[in-house]
Amino acid sequence: MTSAAIILAAGRGTRAGGALPKQWQTLAGQPVLAHTIAAFRGQVDRIVLAIHPEDAARAAAFGLPMVDGGSTRAASVRNALDALAGQGVTKVLIHDGARPLVSPGLIAGVLAALDAATGAAPALPVTDALWRGAAHVTGTARREGLWRAQTPQGFRFDAILAAHRAHQGEAADDVEVARAAGIEVAIVPGEEDNLKLTFAGDFARAERILKGRGMDIRLGNGFDVHAFTEGDHVWLCGVKLPHTKSLLGHSDADVGMHALTDAIYGALAEGDIGTHFPPSDPQWKGAESHIFLRHAMERVAARGFRLANCDVTLICERPKIGPHQGAMRAALARIMGVEVDRISVKATTSERLGFTGREEGIAAIATATLVSA
Ligand code: MG
Repeated sequence: MTSAAIILAAGRGTRAGGALPKQWQTLAGQPVLAHTIAAFRGQVDRIVLAIHPEDAARAAAFGLPMVDGGSTRAASVRNALDALAGQGVTKVLIHDGARPLVSPGLIAGVLAALDAATGAAPALPVTDALWRGAAHVTGTARREGLWRAQTPQGFRFDAILAAHRAHQGEAADDVEVARAAGIEVAIVPGEEDNLKLTFAGDFARAERILKGRGMDIRLGNGFDVHAFTEGDHVWLCGVKLPHTKSLLGHSDADVGMHALTDAIYGALAEGDIGTHFPPSDPQWKGAESHIFLRHAMERVAARGFRLANCDVTLICERPKIGPHQGAMRAALARIMGVEVDRISVKATTSERLGFTGREEGIAAIATATLVSA
């Protein structure tokens, strides 16, 4: 059995406000569509995106196959189904890109329902009373037997492909297309949180729901060493200290800031300073280390995290760090844009043992904790 998900993200809907269509607006630090895609990764074998041609460059970052969104929802789905045809796909889920909070359980539930049904889709029973009218109530309607439809709507692949190829004109959703072709669609329980972001207020609600789902906590460590050379100062954690030697190295050799930057990249599983600023690239020769640390913090924000705390330990006999700890914490806080009380800088000696004990260089270790923003 091969499963696939089609994520519809070609709409131009800007009822939520802002210049960008809602699936490209930011939710908890990432585009809405990034959340939606993340929900399906690992749950299905293939993912295809239906993207408006204007958004193709932006969507390429997801590294997924894309098809051009058509002029209607049905046309977008048809393009994506055609792209998946002949690949052995047996079950396909069709999902609104603007429903980023779909849960793993709901996706699994729709897939499982397709073992027994040709079509299966989530919905919630209508519980509010229903009225007709505009400014005034002109009538009421019975809510019994009425459902609020959600996605992902799931189908046996060959059946929905044939249904879409036969369908003429528009359709509210894929259940309508399926039913027009005589496919029975089973209702599986939907989820209240699986909302479709439509209005500006929906974003605030979605952020609250994401917060309530619990915190994603990431921990990283970093280690760095720089050797002493002739000179009269060292840079440590963003502070210039007079000394009888300097540290040798690419850039300003701020060993503490390098360890801290690597800890942050480590927490994100995004390599280290060398990955982002290759020493072979002459443009980084002599670059000040705050450029690296700022970049790491930009990645933290871009990935939807914030720094909870960090802790740097400098290992050296001299210079004495104690008198400068406050200035170092303040410097790092300024560069990183976080409160000073989230930053610790401390120092130790190695009891005159080893290279730090012989004052041949300075070592630094750091840890950083990131939490979902
Ligand atoms: Mg270094």
